[in-house]
Amino acid sequence: MSAPVPMIAGNWKMHGTAAALAEAQQVAGADLPAGVRVALCPPATLVERMSRTLQGGPVLVGGQDCHPEPQGAHTGDVSAEMLAEAGAKLVILGHSERRAGYGESDEVVAAKVAAALRAALEPVVCVGETLAEREGGKTLDVVTWQVRRSLPEALSARPFTVAYEPVWAIGSGLTPSLGDIEEVHAAIRETLVEKFGEAGARTAILYGGSVKPANAREILALPEVGGALVGGASLKASDFLGIIGAAGAR
Ligand code: PEP
Repeated sequence: MSAPVPMIAGNWKMHGTAAALAEAQQVAGADLPAGVRVALCPPATLVERMSRTLQGGPVLVGGQDCHPEPQGAHTGDVSAEMLAEAGAKLVILGHSERRAGYGESDEVVAAKVAAALRAALEPVVCVGETLAEREGGKTLDVVTWQVRRSLPEALSARPFTVAYEPVWAIGSGLTPSLGDIEEVHAAIRETLVEKFGEAGARTAILYGGSVKPANAREILALPEVGGALVGGASLKASDFLGIIGAAGAR
């Protein structure tokens, strides 16, 4: 059974106009460690341009969301097929900012995952508990429930990635203790293997939430942490490269 390939993925959220492509170029032009997948997910408006700019290089480009349908009367939305045509290879789905801000349920996330597969995009599916859920002792129940319901059966035949992102750790500078991260990742692994067998054992489980160059090494060294989903620190090439370097040193 092959071990998961680690990935460091940057989520630019609603940041970045064309000028920011220089940061992406700096990342792609650096001496990246072998055996680590690197991805950048810019706003939809930059996916095509970033894909063209980085074409043939080591950095994958991804979207941050997609609609479940391939086309239709959905003002403001982007389909998985559109992202794929623009050069995306993967797409972040079920980010807590979408779950909370747009009321995305696990069922909606699962439909988006199916759309990503239809368009040959690798889904990076986010799960994570709120602060109230953590304080209420519900973290493992919430996270494993989200994993079971957000990931459709069809994934057993396709590459996919899961990102554990505690909602309260995103953009806050706070992170769970190393022991807490380890506990949640172990529970996600168990759930993935239960649901998908060998494919569930091969899937990388990323940690996301205030990962910085200063804390990346200890987080990435934990068992079952197969990389990081990085928001704020992916906007500056030097910070992002510091995190990628920590993944290479595992
Ligand atoms: C994110 O939005 O996925 C994220 C992890 O953000 P940050 O790294 O800024 O906490």
